[in-house]
Amino acid sequence: MKIGFIGLGNMGSAIARNLIKAGHEVTVWNRSPGKADALVGEGAKRAATPAEAASGAVVHTMLADDKAVEAVTFGPDGILSASAKAIHVSHSTIGLPLAERLAKAHAEHGSALIAAPVFGRPAAAEAAKLFIAAAGPADALSTCQPLFDAIGQKSFTIGDHPPAANLVKLCGNFLILATIESLAEAMTLGEKGGVPKAKLLEVLTGSLFGAPVYQTYGDILVKEAFHPAGFAAPLGLKDMNLVSQAATDARVPMPVLAVLRDHLLSTIAREGEDIDWSGIARIIAADAGL
Ligand code: NAP
Repeated sequence: MKIGFIGLGNMGSAIARNLIKAGHEVTVWNRSPGKADALVGEGAKRAATPAEAASGAVVHTMLADDKAVEAVTFGPDGILSASAKAIHVSHSTIGLPLAERLAKAHAEHGSALIAAPVFGRPAAAEAAKLFIAAAGPADALSTCQPLFDAIGQKSFTIGDHPPAANLVKLCGNFLILATIESLAEAMTLGEKGGVPKAKLLEVLTGSLFGAPVYQTYGDILVKEAFHPAGFAAPLGLKDMNLVSQAATDARVPMPVLAVLRDHLLSTIAREGEDIDWSGIARIIAADAGL
């Protein structure tokens, strides 16, 4: 399929590479053009603008935040300025109001929005092992299914209303960080009582807590592998703010969210921007005098 890919950061470059490997004709665009070089060397075509990347049947975006998706979609030379009616597959973790606005704008343009946020870190993206939560018009979803199959191990259809998929992603990221928080608290307690983190994790994941989220993040916490950031703390903070916005709009109190957000803020303030979001474990340990 002739497709475009916009946003070649930690996640986007790995996803685009798998689409090339699957035999799709991929045209790439990134704000900092140098990040496209490696993929161009592997067979991708370079676009001069987001609109040019949107000249095929489908255009994927994997961008940092709402602001980036807005710029690339609505800006001059943006996706919606293209005369082609490419299906826009939006993988970024964005807020529900923007997803709503994108869906409406695409319908008016005669194209379609598929919200397809993903679960999985850059290593999972490289291994084509992402989980995809997709929502949008049924015919567009079926056009995109081979693309999801090329980048993930499983895709879920949430329905025909794109923001619902973004809501699933926000709920999931809230739970991931809540898991990291509680695991880091338990490991800190264990360590102060003389139980090494690795031993505690071995028992937890070998008994009742064998889920991938405990395995992946447990390993990161044991190794304190917070650099380089696979998922940077400022992006995690962006997500917790999006959860907060959705919870406020829906009138859902989420007291745990406040703790997670504060720990991310402390982590960024004390350790800098370039730390993985699981680095909240450092703050939790420091608060316990470790
Ligand atoms: P990243 O490495 O920081 O890449 C961000 C991308 O967005 C880069 O291509 C960057 O371009 C582009 N960008 C930022 N601001 C822009 C703007 N104003 N206009 C145009 N392009 C802009 O981030 P990532 O880790 O790949 O994450 C991308 C998205 O996936 C985020 O929404 C994140 O929440 C979500 N996500 C991440 C993970 C993970 O584990 N990393 C997992 C699931 C979902 P430049 O190269 O020019 O800076």
